[in-house]
Amino acid sequence: MGFEKFGQVGYISQTKVAPLISYLQKGVVAGTRCKNDGKFYFPPRADCLDCRKSDMEWVPIESRARLVTFTQVFFGPPAFEQSTPYTLGLAEFENGLRVFAPISKDLDRDELKPEMELVLRPRHVGEGVFYQLEKP
Ligand SMILES: [Zn+2]
Repeated sequence: MGFEKFGQVGYISQTKVAPLISYLQKGVVAGTRCKNDGKFYFPPRADCLDCRKSDMEWVPIESRARLVTFTQVFFGPPAFEQSTPYTLGLAEFENGLRVFAPISKDLDRDELKPEMELVLRPRHVGEGVFYQLEKP
């Protein structure tokens, strides 16, 4: 299983972080953690930016996040062009990790406020899968 299932239009066939797709298909959003120094990455990385080692483990993201800010996207990257316009949020998790992700269209734009609680969940669209911020 490769990255061709990421988003709605495939563009990368294989990478070292392809397990992300398998996790998303099972309903789990997961990142990678360096076994050497505990640094956590999402989107997942195969190599640690800090110590340069490649000894990583997959860790599900289960905690809630707080919305930091958001914006409306009218011209998206190829994999998300069909979804425009959509809202892109920046959310911060309890461990300080900050993630950019689309915000669910189920959330009304007027409901969005900084500091509101959100969760990161997989979303299936057609043959593809990606992740988005949703109401807990
Ligand atoms: Zn490291």
